[in-house]
Amino acid sequence: MSITIEELKKWDSEDELKGYRKEFYINENSIYLDGNSLGLLSRRAEHALLDMLDSWRDLGIDGWMKGDNPWFYFAENLGELSAPLVGAKKEEVIVTGSTTGNLHQLLATFYEPKGLRTKIVADVLNFPSDIYAIQSMLKLKGCDPAEHLVQVESRDGRLLDEQDILASLNKEVALLILPTVLYRSGQLLDIQKITHEAHKQGILVGWDGCHSVGAIPHQFHEWNVDFAYWCNYKYLNSGPGGVGALFVHERHFGRTPGLTGWFGSKKEKQFDMEHHFTPAEASGTYQIGTPHIFSMAPLLGSLRMFDEVGMEKIRKKSLHQTRILMNLIEQELSEYNFIIANPTDDRYRGGHVSLEHPEAARICKSLKEHGVVPDFRKPSIIRLAPVALYTTYEEIYQMVAILKGIMQEKHYEKYSNEREVVA
Ligand SMILES: *Cc1c(COP(=O)(O)O)cnc(C)c1O
Repeated sequence: MSITIEELKKWDSEDELKGYRKEFYINENSIYLDGNSLGLLSRRAEHALLDMLDSWRDLGIDGWMKGDNPWFYFAENLGELSAPLVGAKKEEVIVTGSTTGNLHQLLATFYEPKGLRTKIVADVLNFPSDIYAIQSMLKLKGCDPAEHLVQVESRDGRLLDEQDILASLNKEVALLILPTVLYRSGQLLDIQKITHEAHKQGILVGWDGCHSVGAIPHQFHEWNVDFAYWCNYKYLNSGPGGVGALFVHERHFGRTPGLTGWFGSKKEKQFDMEHHFTPAEASGTYQIGTPHIFSMAPLLGSLRMFDEVGMEKIRKKSLHQTRILMNLIEQELSEYNFIIANPTDDRYRGGHVSLEHPEAARICKSLKEHGVVPDFRKPSIIRLAPVALYTTYEEIYQMVAILKGIMQEKHYEKYSNEREVVA
């Protein structure tokens, strides 16, 4: 039975999250499906930032300890608000740094090549920055990346096979670093199982949560994940360059970070100004310098919405919206050579649909001209992310209708099939 616009309007009217769309600044002439790359601004995020400016204006240096959100504890407080999104204890999460910077910090801390155990296992599909960080940390620790970085292959260039990941683990491996959700195909890995299997072989596991935090519930503490790191500007809508976050399991508390700085001190000790570093007994110890307060403030407003709604409802709607989107693509676009590259099984599907087409780069340009904001990833992927807090079912329908029109009229042919500088 085919899906109709009436049916989608009904889903919108019955949607228990529908009230949240008006919390966001939505351009009603545009269909925004790029919230997995840069989430939209909400009024609450905006207010949180403006409030922080007020505290600087009104309090000056006293803003560190006074006001509604004293800056000295802000990273810890945001960590506490983030903890439910990843299934962590509040001390296990800190909002600090950037994804790549945090990975450097975590590698500097947890990569300890010893005897035979010197290798880091990653995969060929991860985001390049993660791989660059691993390569450079290997060099800094005196290990040649050509020999010590092992990248799990992909059989089809889109997905990772769990068996291949597990087969790469052995007594030469010190660390396993994987994305929770692959940034192109949207594949969700079995975090719990892979972590468990790696631990059985004495391997520590770190997860890049950029494409899952804010879209999918996690239980990092319960799953015994050693560490994880993610950005807050994608599904968490904290704004361009917004400060990232990391998780370190409490069983690792007490370690001295690989990269130390005074903001990683035990908080009561920090202003003793001693030249002997006393690490905080919490993930806060992985902070290095003064927190970037204004690049963190929007997250406060945004996290309050996640706190109200809870990840279960967000995941439920996200899975339903991506299901409807896939079904509509099959229903309306079957004659145009699109391939749905993401896993269709709910257990292995992240928050976006990954649509492949040889003309993807220019189809994306045409979509933008028609008021749809997708994103393009090399070589031929159109990523489409309906975001539970603000995308409507009707927009999904309209987007597919617009794409159909573009394909029927071959409108994309007026562009070159090259990506833009920022794609
Ligand atoms: C977005 C993203 C990054 C970006 O890292 P930054 O340091 O925030 O620029 C890294 N890894 C993955 C998997 C991502 O999706």
